[in-house]
Amino acid sequence: MLPGPPPQAVVVDLDDTVFPQAAYLDGAARAVGRAGAAVGLDGPAVTRALRAQLRAGSDRGGTIDRALAVCGVPPERAAELVPALVAAFIGYRPRRLPVFPRARTALTTLRARYPLACVTDGNPAIQRAKLAATGVADAFDTVVITDELGGRAARKPCPDGLRRAAELLGVPADLLVVIGDRPGKDMAAAAAVGARSIRVRTGEYADAPDEPPATATAPDLAAAAAILH
Ligand SMILES: [Mg+2]
Repeated sequence: MLPGPPPQAVVVDLDDTVFPQAAYLDGAARAVGRAGAAVGLDGPAVTRALRAQLRAGSDRGGTIDRALAVCGVPPERAAELVPALVAAFIGYRPRRLPVFPRARTALTTLRARYPLACVTDGNPAIQRAKLAATGVADAFDTVVITDELGGRAARKPCPDGLRRAAELLGVPADLLVVIGDRPGKDMAAAAAVGARSIRVRTGEYADAPDEPPATATAPDLAAAAAILH
């Protein structure tokens, strides 16, 4: 159990907390490769180069431009092609995505005991497709996609998503427990509303510095749920 009063509700992040975001990014890189092949590029080479760029840091802009440079596409030709390739990336919708081990059971266990929300950042259509593809769309009492509250400015560490989730669940925001993988986003948003948090060490940010620190740390979502059981 966590220190402090009993939690009133639990908020779970989606990307790299419920499922490996790398699985989604790999699919998106394949979609870009197919779009590249359709305009005469070496599709598999574009996919490989983009995948490498995304693994080096998926939050950085310009990943497609750099992948084309790695493939030896001249800058003028790249400038012509990038809009269609970006469209292929944004338009990619996974049919199925894997979840982390025992993640679905963990969500069921949590929901049996607490009101349960998902608070996630990103393009709303893409985040909804991920929820459907992972099969967890119905695992929550409510889903808050921060971009729908106020665009990119509402993304974590902005606490608006947590405030909205607390309101929808009918609990005080400071009695939420937030489970997420990114200290600078999930833990920071929790701290901003005085809520406790559990960091999961899964995905791209597993080794990121503990800043700000979480109330507790767990190897994955299943272990985080066990802390709250
Ligand atoms: Mg995340």
